Formats: sequence, C-alpha cells, structure tokens
Amino acid sequence: MKRILVVGGGQAGHSVAAKLRSCGFDGRIVLICGEDELPYQRPPLSKKYLLGEFERERLHLRPRDYYSDNGIELMLGERCNGIDPNGRKIELGSGVLNYDELVLATGSTPRNLPERAGGLLDGVHTVRTVADIDGMRSELAAGMNVLVVGGGYIGLETAATCATKGCNVTIVEVADRILQRVAAPETSNYFRALHSDRGVRVLEGTALARLLAGTGGRVAAAELKDAGRIDADLAVVGIGILPSTELAEAAGLEIDNGIRVDAYGRTSADGVWAAGDCASFPLGGKRIRLESVQNAIDQAEIVAENILGAEREYVPVPWFWSDQFDAKLQIAGLGTGYDRIISRRIEGAAAASFWYFAGDSLLAVDAINDSRSYMVGKRLLETGKAANTEVLADPSANLKLLIR
Ligand SMILES: Cc1cc2nc3c(=O)[nH]c(=O)nc-3n(C[C@H](O)[C@H](O)[C@H](O)COP(=O)(O)OP(=O)(O)OC[C@H]3O[C@@H](n4cnc5c(N)ncnc54)[C@H](O)[C@@H]3O)c2cc1C
Repeated sequence: MKRILVVGGGQAGHSVAAKLRSCGFDGRIVLICGEDELPYQRPPLSKKYLLGEFERERLHLRPRDYYSDNGIELMLGERCNGIDPNGRKIELGSGVLNYDELVLATGSTPRNLPERAGGLLDGVHTVRTVADIDGMRSELAAGMNVLVVGGGYIGLETAATCATKGCNVTIVEVADRILQRVAAPETSNYFRALHSDRGVRVLEGTALARLLAGTGGRVAAAELKDAGRIDADLAVVGIGILPSTELAEAAGLEIDNGIRVDAYGRTSADGVWAAGDCASFPLGGKRIRLESVQNAIDQAEIVAENILGAEREYVPVPWFWSDQFDAKLQIAGLGTGYDRIISRRIEGAAAASFWYFAGDSLLAVDAINDSRSYMVGKRLLETGKAANTEVLADPSANLKLLIR
C-alpha cells in the first residue's frame, strides 16, 4: 500500500492530509508533528485566545475523530530528525519510516532576542504556539507594563490584546514606522493612530538595546538605544519568523528563503514536496514565500492534488487579515513594488482603503473595516480588470461598478 508522510501538523500539514483523502487517495497517510496538540489554527492565538475569549478546543482544525474516521494516522509530539531522500525514509525519535511521497509542512519559527539582549529572561515571550500563549496568558494581568518589541502584525495584534486586557503597553519599532516591511505609510498611519488612541505608546525609529532582569531573573525593564529606560513586567518579542528549513537543508534540498519548490510544490528531491510558511515558490517572475493561512491551505491542497497526478500550478492572489482592537484589516494582493497609493476614506469614519499601484496596474489593496473595498479589490486582481483610480478615490462612488 502506498504511504504518504506529512511532516508538520499545522495548517498546511492538515490541509495536505485532508485533501489527499477527499480526493480519493486510499493508501496510508501519516501526519507527524513536533507539537503534542491536534492540528490547530494560529490566528486566534494573538487575538481572542490570548484575551481568554476563545476556547482551546475551538482552535483545533478538526476533532480527533475526524482523523481516525478518515484513516489519517497522527503522530503528535513526535519530531522528524532526518530525511534520506535517496532511501525514501525519515528518522523519528521512535524509529524509521519509509515513504513513497513526503510532504514537508514544517512552518516557521519565531526569531527571539539573543541571550545577551535578555531573550532568555523569564517573562519574555514569543508568539507562535498555543503553549507560548498559555505561558503568556498565565502571567498577564491588568495594570502590568508590557513591552512589545516589533511593530509588525504579530506585535501589533498582541499589543492590542494586552491593552484590551488593561495593561500599559509600549511598542518599540526599530524602523521609521510600524508595518514598514509589509505596508504603505498610509496603513502604518492608520494603525499608529488606532493604537495611540487606545493608550498604546508607539515608539518608532527606536531600537531596543537589551532587556534587563530584576530580582529572580525576571524581566523588569528595557534599555533603549538613545531613548532611555522603561519599565517592563513582561516582554513580547515580535521580530519576525524564519522558515523551518533545517531538515530539508540537512538532506541536501535546495533552500532559497525557504524550501525551494516549483509551481507544483515539488522540492529539488524526487518524491519530496513542501507547502506553507516553510516553502518559497515562483510567482510572476519572482520567488516569494508567504506567511498566511490562505497560502498554507491553498498551496497544500495543490500539492495533494499534484501528488495524485493533477499537474496544477499554484498561482495565488494572496490574501491576509489582521484584527486589532475593533479594526479589521483585509489585504488582497502583494503591495511590493508600488509607486503610488490611492486612498479611499470617508472623513471621520473608521473605514478606509489604500490601493497600491505600479503605473496603471493595481497590485494590492489594504481595506480596513471596509469589506466591500476588499472584495472589489480582490476581484479586480483576480480578473485583471482595469481599476479606475478616480472611482477608487471618490468615497461616494459605487465601487461595485468596477467589477460589473
Ligand atoms: C499568532 C499568529 C497570528 C496569526 N494571524 C494570522 C492572520 O490573522 N491571518 C493569516 O492569514 N495568517 C495569520 N498567521 C499566520 C498563519 O497562522 C501561518 O501562516 C500558518 O499557520 C502557517 O501554517 P504552516 O502549516 O505552514 O506552519 P505552522 O502552522 O507553523 O505548522 C508547522 C508545524 O510543523 C511542526 N514541525 C516543524 N518541524 C518539525 C519536525 N522536524 N518534525 C515534526 N514537526 C515539525 C511545528 O511544530 C508546527 O506545529 C498568524 C500566525 C501566528 C503565529
């Protein structure tokens, strides 16, 4: 009987296994995951789960019965330590498993501060796993001074949740503005104002020198470069993630900002595929790697279909969302390489959308509390229809006319 192994039981690993079964694959599927937890969704972790408004069971993508009913063998709390692509086998702590096809869905790992900067002190948290959040949640209390290092989406979401819990929150961002790596200044301005209005102190262009320990080795303060010292009872490190490529690298697979795959999800080794946060793939003449739920699901499902012989290329219109306080940001497309932004904003309203253009080509839209702009932007990107910038900029115009 044919055996497909999936290493990594996050969103991508789960989606590969589920799609293989729903497409009629009747061989063995084994899902191996280092975390001892049923496959789960991460987005609520920095939002409602940290707030205490989302039960742990609701994080799970499917209940345990789903896996047994569908003949998906789960090996949870089990790490894969090595791959032998020539011998078509992998090494686990508990022994060796042979495979016919192998999917790497190993995700990514948060970057932490080095030990000399206080990264290993008690009270310093990264935001990736349910265990990370359980640890943070058990320490958080209203009135605490929380320092968030990094003003990307994870840092901002965590800051918003901590502020909602009644903590005094400071965000320290080394770049000139929050979200600099991923969004236009207009979007950064919106979220800076949102956080400041809710009492979060946003320090941009400010570098952390190091976290300082108080009594008992717990973080107590932060020393900032050229900006003095601030109290910190708890620190959140949100300074980006690195694709988990160690296994692939050790096995001699090609790595290029992630495990290098082609448009079908094949790695450089025969019979080995990759999907999700860990994989970089070709899109529009470039090589990219996406860190989103949409990518983890869609790329994984295409890999499953291609393992079964479909020969489908993965050509996504990426989308992403972020929730901070009562603002919902929805993003369609990729804004990199834009040369102008068209803003659509109703004076005094919380809704706004920012449209990224390169010449006349629409690249992406950031829509905040404005699902219509998001929906129209996504449709325009999918169909390649021209976007009339005068209509976009006019808040009284009916956007839906653009996609008729
Ligand atoms: C707090 C948070 C909030 C987020 N919010 C959003 C959001 O609002 N919208 C959005 O689109 N995206 C969001 N994301 C991103 C999204 O969750 C990820 O892009 C997605 O989970 C990636 O799925 P994955 O399966 O590729 O990787 P992961 O979910 O990281 O899963 C990989 C799994 O593989 C396991 N693994 C790794 N190596 C091994 C090994 N050698 N052996 C066994 N197991 C191994 C890991 O332990 C892990 O469980 C968020 C992420 C986080 C952390």
